[in-house]
Amino acid sequence: MTHANYSLLSSSIYAAASALLLAGCAVTSHGAQPAPLGTPSSLAAMESTLDEPGPIVVETVTAAHWQVPLSGLLNLDDPKARAAGLEDRDEPIQIFLHSLHHPSRGVYLIDSGVQADIHGEGSALGWLVASVAGLDELKVQLDTRSWLQRQSAPPSGVLLTHLHLDHVMGLPDIPKGTPLYSGPGEAAQTSFENLFVQGTTDRELEGHAAVSEWQFPASGGEGIAGVLDVFGDGTLWALHVPGHTAGSTAYVVRSTEGPVLFTGDACHTAWGWQNEVEPGSFSSDRARSKQSLLALRELVQRHPGMAVRLGHQSLPPAPALNVAAR
Ligand SMILES: [Zn+2]
Ligand SMILES: [Zn+2]
Repeated sequence: MTHANYSLLSSSIYAAASALLLAGCAVTSHGAQPAPLGTPSSLAAMESTLDEPGPIVVETVTAAHWQVPLSGLLNLDDPKARAAGLEDRDEPIQIFLHSLHHPSRGVYLIDSGVQADIHGEGSALGWLVASVAGLDELKVQLDTRSWLQRQSAPPSGVLLTHLHLDHVMGLPDIPKGTPLYSGPGEAAQTSFENLFVQGTTDRELEGHAAVSEWQFPASGGEGIAGVLDVFGDGTLWALHVPGHTAGSTAYVVRSTEGPVLFTGDACHTAWGWQNEVEPGSFSSDRARSKQSLLALRELVQRHPGMAVRLGHQSLPPAPALNVAAR
């Protein structure tokens, strides 16, 4: 390439980069469309039947172990975090793959686990993102392709909590044509960091249909931005809990073992859940994410039998009930 050509190229890259910086950059350029599923509902309607046993069988597997800066996972400026002496360090976390087996709707995944070839040539991760995000440290325990091979049927859909990279890393293993669902405005959300991850997120989504975005009603009640009854049968709800990202979505299931809440990254860590401290620098709107976290905490306080699956850590098991005394 001649020097003149090179200058021309670098100045056009500079112009394109400047335009992106000024405008911010979307999470993905992948298409989005309104979700065809979901009946407008409310917390009150959901809570009226929530504690009745339901038909969905829930399975959670640890797809991978990883570590990331604690300051991203937790607001270390929170008075409780300061009082506990928490300082920034690498925090061990997990990437989970959850599945919901519905008797007539089939199997739905919550988020997507990790693709089999994550560290290989078929990986959707670019080298820059992989090295900047520390994904070299990611230790895969059970990849999505292996998990799918154990199932009797392909998944009916993927319920994404949001479109951060660590939640879409299993999508390359999901059969193309499987419906993908996420919160509203999730794909178009803009930020500076997306300059680095947009290409990677696009590759994770490559070949898949447009993401179907939940059409939440204006308010869900009690600090939740919106509630949808996903199948309209009172077994699975999507809860709009913005803050970590604009479209962050939690899911509530009436399972055979009782109600289960999947928080997504409305709460990453066990300590954050137990101490009501919201995520840190990984969030786009910390004040709103605090409000969403408190609303989810209050929901569980009203339904103490509800199991809670957090974004990236497991809660310690509840103390065994004393069933001997009758
Ligand atoms: Zn996230
Ligand atoms: Zn995450």
